[in-house]
Amino acid sequence: MKGATRRSFLTGGAAAAALLAKPSLAQARPRIVVIGGGFGGATCARALRRADPQFDVTLVEPNPTFTACPFSNVVIAGLRDIAAQRFGYDKIRADSITLAQDQATAVDPHARRVSLRGGAALDYDRLVLAPGITIRWDAIPGYDEAAAEVMPHAWIAGEQTLLLKRQLEAMPDGGTVVISAPPNPFRCPPGPYERASLIAYYLKNTKPRSKLILLDAKDSFSKQRLFQSAWQQLYPELIEWVSLSNGGKVVSVEAKSRTFATDFATYKADVANVIPPQRAGAIAQLAGVADNTGWCPIDPVTFESRLQPNIHVIGDAAIAGAMPKSAFAANAEAKVCAAAVATLLQGETPRAPKLINTCYSLVAPDYGISIAGVYHPAGGQLADVEGAGGVSPIDAPADFRALEAAYAEAWFRTITAETFG
Ligand SMILES: Cc1cc2nc3c(=O)[nH]c(=O)nc-3n(C[C@H](O)[C@H](O)[C@H](O)COP(=O)(O)OP(=O)(O)OC[C@H]3O[C@@H](n4cnc5c(N)ncnc54)[C@H](O)[C@@H]3O)c2cc1C
Repeated sequence: MKGATRRSFLTGGAAAAALLAKPSLAQARPRIVVIGGGFGGATCARALRRADPQFDVTLVEPNPTFTACPFSNVVIAGLRDIAAQRFGYDKIRADSITLAQDQATAVDPHARRVSLRGGAALDYDRLVLAPGITIRWDAIPGYDEAAAEVMPHAWIAGEQTLLLKRQLEAMPDGGTVVISAPPNPFRCPPGPYERASLIAYYLKNTKPRSKLILLDAKDSFSKQRLFQSAWQQLYPELIEWVSLSNGGKVVSVEAKSRTFATDFATYKADVANVIPPQRAGAIAQLAGVADNTGWCPIDPVTFESRLQPNIHVIGDAAIAGAMPKSAFAANAEAKVCAAAVATLLQGETPRAPKLINTCYSLVAPDYGISIAGVYHPAGGQLADVEGAGGVSPIDAPADFRALEAAYAEAWFRTITAETFG
């Protein structure tokens, strides 16, 4: 797809390294490849383009449309059409970003080359990886890709989201929904609890004799007091949360009988939603930027990999310290990373950034809660800025909750417009 002329004349050694440190002097158009056209990658490609129109930016993404996870729990509860979650790449193409509609299958960090499934190769000066997550199919005995067709995870939005929705619709009143939540870290820390809330909302209104059991591999979770106080108020008797200490950790599942086993009991579900452990998108392993946790250690100023030079990792795939794995965070990291890449390509040193994250969750359509944080590099990772951020008040009136639900929708409109619009 791209010529390898420059690569073949820069064949290693100190002279080449010196040239590569300042590619803006060595060549007219520094080539930046971004893998993954989700919240992190698409935002980063656009921010790079804005940072310097000279940059030759290529975004690699196999899917012709992106299906967003935020608000997919609302789809599962039957309150939103999946079409509202889908976004195309036409506007990104119109920004003079080259879109390679293909899957990256290998990265050669020494040659600085990305291979694509279709057979083409892309040479880069800097590579940004934003591949999101891969499900760890080896983590829960009995849970593989075939089992996910019976016990959906719905943690990568699309067909899995619709499968879980259809199963809920088909469940008779009086049925039992079982959700299992993974240990930290994982995509969207409040997500399982928002999902439990919105499924409870659906059950309360359409199948009120039903029950929801949430089996958890943790003893505490994001916005826990807010969620639990809302459950008490809105869904008393409907949701049962089983913590790690109370035997909530799932040790195996059986798809045929839709059964979850813990060390203490078995739970038979009518609808079973397994949210399994995850790791960075597969290309991160192939590029050699993931460590033995399955996630990618990064420099908190530049998001450059600690394992491979000239490769940056953003979004869910990165180990971003105290920052959660959220679309809001991926967007913030993308902009910081783009600015750092532009600075590095000038041969200069990026300044330490401050990043913000806010995660909204809906407990009901008109009941929103949020958590916000501010982060900065400290001790080699991204740490909380002490005294900044916080959560919604525990005793807020109904109109405050309704306002936060409206803020959540406004946030989604804004971030998707910024990323894809
Ligand atoms: C149910 C649920 C609710 C959520 N709600 C919220 C919320 O309210 N607020 C919030 O901020 N976050 C929320 N999130 C989290 C949010 O979806 C993720 O944190 C966010 O999508 C991460 O962005 P990313 O760019 O890292 O990954 P993604 O957005 O998943 O993008 C990754 C992209 O990389 C592509 N890709 C992967 N591998 C390759 C490859 N080899 N070659 C080319 N392309 C590749 C994929 O096709 C995908 O398009 C939610 C998540 C879930 C599951």
